Amino acid sequence: MSRYLHNRYKDMIPYVPGEQPQNREYIKLNTNENPYPPSPDALKALENNKLNKLNLYPDPSTKSLIDAIAQKYNVNNEQIIIGNGSDEILAFCFQAFCGEGIPACFPDLSYGFYPVFADLYSLTKKVIKLKEDFSISVSDYFNANATIFVANPNAPTGIALSLEQIRDILKSNIDNIVVIDEAYVDFGADSSVELLDEFENLIVIKTFSKSCNLAGARLGYAIASKEVIRDLNTIKFSFNPYNVNSISLILGEAVIKDEQYLVQCLDNIKNTRQYTIEQLETRNFKVLPSKANFVFASHPIFCGKDYYNLLKNKGILVRYFDLERTKKFVRITIGTKKQMDALLKATDEMEV
Ligand SMILES: *Cc1c(COP(=O)(O)O)cnc(C)c1O
Repeated sequence: MSRYLHNRYKDMIPYVPGEQPQNREYIKLNTNENPYPPSPDALKALENNKLNKLNLYPDPSTKSLIDAIAQKYNVNNEQIIIGNGSDEILAFCFQAFCGEGIPACFPDLSYGFYPVFADLYSLTKKVIKLKEDFSISVSDYFNANATIFVANPNAPTGIALSLEQIRDILKSNIDNIVVIDEAYVDFGADSSVELLDEFENLIVIKTFSKSCNLAGARLGYAIASKEVIRDLNTIKFSFNPYNVNSISLILGEAVIKDEQYLVQCLDNIKNTRQYTIEQLETRNFKVLPSKANFVFASHPIFCGKDYYNLLKNKGILVRYFDLERTKKFVRITIGTKKQMDALLKATDEMEV
């Protein structure tokens, strides 16, 4: 730390992303990326498109991509904002809708960025414990008097809420914003987009990073009421009007329009998830019921850290969270069947 850093940041602990080692080829099952390449249409769109226009700024209204997304979800194009990854949209939400008298409320075990954003903006945190079985206790969020952030399905558990449960949270918090982070929703949970007509306090956040095979492009978006999107645009245009680069805008539009490729990748991943869960359970792992592209699982003998290290030695990366409640577990991204077989084989070869 230099002596110039302002006091408000002196205890700040930044978010720690999953490892992206560049020193050797790992089987990467640690950051919930999609194991399949982006839609071939995306790559084609880039070739044909105007890369020679990179001397110009991108369209600050991101209109072309917004129109494609609006069409997909059958919402008005004024109900959408695009971000540099959904992380940026989440940051805008913490900044716009929390503050003095309005804490940021989220589960104790969820996306690790929520407490970091709360700290970045010097917000009060209202942290609510998950139940013993790692599910969200919905009634704990009733009348929260806070801006609520819920990942559905939740991470790192993979457990999803039903739309009825989300509706109950929205109903009892009508004077506060409820953000539903749907980073993993395409892998098998129900999307809250259909609740938008009913609730003006709802923001649904989505990303191209997980189900859309585009983590490298850094694209995310929010769908909400026109008024709420206008608020988020106030933040965006006060921070970085050109928050999304031209290349990513082109890629995103092509990916959104290739529904067939999306469905094919999702089917593969869901089938491989089922296979992986069965294989792990055969080996006496405890596996939480996942609707996401990862499973949260504990080895029958090794603690999470040991299992993580043993796998890493064998060239396979998974994610370990060093917390009291999660120390038995690792989070394993669902890759290709071949990658999962490598994980199972490595597991079978471990000396207990
Ligand atoms: C991966 C993830 C995100 C961030 O996605 P980006 O669009 O890549 O920034 C947001 N929320 C959750 C719960 C995630 O797991």
